[in-house]
Amino acid sequence: MKNYYQKEIETAPREKILEIQNEKLRKQIRHVYDNVKYYRDLMDQKGVKPEDIRTVDDIKFLPFLSKADLRDAYPYGLLGTDLKNCVRIHSTSGTTGKRVVAFYTQNDIDIWEECCARAIVAAGGTAEDVCQVCYGYGLFTGGSGLHGGSHKVGCLTLPMSSGNTERQIQFMMDLGSTIICCTPSYAAYIGETLAEMGYKPEDNKLKAGIFGAEPWTEEMRRSIEKSLGIKAYDIYGLTETSGPGVSFECEEQTGMHINEDHFYAEIIDPDTGEVLPEGSKGELVFTALDKEAFPLIRYRTRDICTLSRKECSCGRTHVKMSKPMGRSDDMMIIRGVNVFPSQIETVLLKEGYTPNYQIVVDRERNNDTFDVYVELNPDQFSDKVSDIQNRERSLEAAMRTMLGIGPKMHLVAPKTITRSEGKAVRVIDRRKLHD
Ligand code: ADP
Ligand code: ZN
Repeated sequence: MKNYYQKEIETAPREKILEIQNEKLRKQIRHVYDNVKYYRDLMDQKGVKPEDIRTVDDIKFLPFLSKADLRDAYPYGLLGTDLKNCVRIHSTSGTTGKRVVAFYTQNDIDIWEECCARAIVAAGGTAEDVCQVCYGYGLFTGGSGLHGGSHKVGCLTLPMSSGNTERQIQFMMDLGSTIICCTPSYAAYIGETLAEMGYKPEDNKLKAGIFGAEPWTEEMRRSIEKSLGIKAYDIYGLTETSGPGVSFECEEQTGMHINEDHFYAEIIDPDTGEVLPEGSKGELVFTALDKEAFPLIRYRTRDICTLSRKECSCGRTHVKMSKPMGRSDDMMIIRGVNVFPSQIETVLLKEGYTPNYQIVVDRERNNDTFDVYVELNPDQFSDKVSDIQNRERSLEAAMRTMLGIGPKMHLVAPKTITRSEGKAVRVIDRRKLHD
């Protein structure tokens, strides 16, 4: 039997979804034009009036918003309602510069938590489950979002927040957690710690993990599924659109259904801003259809992915986005070649290495240097020095095939790369310091 949190809307026919989107859109654009001066000015500059926007096909006429606009308008310039109607803020983790502050009305929070509840149910969650939330609580959206979703589903919620891994494991074992929510890098760390403590994957009661907030590869998914003995589901979102739960994976694990009754998604060419046809790879842009406090229209996420409307075996009809391979600004240009950290992760895990790695880029006499540090497994570590050097050469060749450019590989001792309890820091780009 298939389970949904809100079946009627999650499996609604396409025409019904479009009808909801069109109606919400007209209302939202009118509201934003009348109430958010910052966006009204952008619309006026483009010569677009609210009455020009009748269906989602007209969205392409509207101006974009970017992170730069959010910084310009900081803190209150994009508020869509009186401050007295707002009940909470959250803030980005600041991975890429100055923080952004987002506002919520109670209705915004209710909708956000419903989106997270959909994700938990899609991962098999019911009121019988014990849901351990080890995303960070506080300004970061991960903890609050999944916490609220878990309450809505009726799970017994363990509000652990991130960190204190031994305590996480103690609660997991003593209370029999069945669902775990955290970043994939932290899930990998918990799996590693469990093994070190002598537990086998079948010793815990976990059945599912809901992991997101950072890019992770299919290889990483398989490695976490094995180490924790679970099925690992992806969840996506960003502070600007409320937080996690904008989209989530179902049992098919082939992309994340976007909650289309609340968000309209487009893929654009990041250079020209042109809307691309379904299936093209490009930058993901969201229009929040019913957010009250922070109603972003055509917000450029900088996340690169594709959209697909292929029928899904789970019965959900909402469009699916592929795993973002990283943000356009995660992409490093090294000696003129575009490199994403996720490509490096794919090679490392395929070749049997740990997901504990760090990429260091620097510049020496106008030349880029490119080094990748990877931890050996304890059994690989006992190899002879010459074996380790051979391994480094062979990894360099595999990287060159994947990336078109060969980093210098450094295999380092187990436990020498800092573990992540939240979003992992994979890249240290020292060139930015010199520029
Ligand atoms: P920051 O921009 O400071 O990291 P957020 O916590 O709002 O702040 O992070 C949102 C970003 O995290 C997204 O734009 C995306 O790049 C990344 N992200 C979130 N979920 C996923 C996911 N499941 N896969 C890949 N990237 C993700
Ligand atoms: Zn599905």
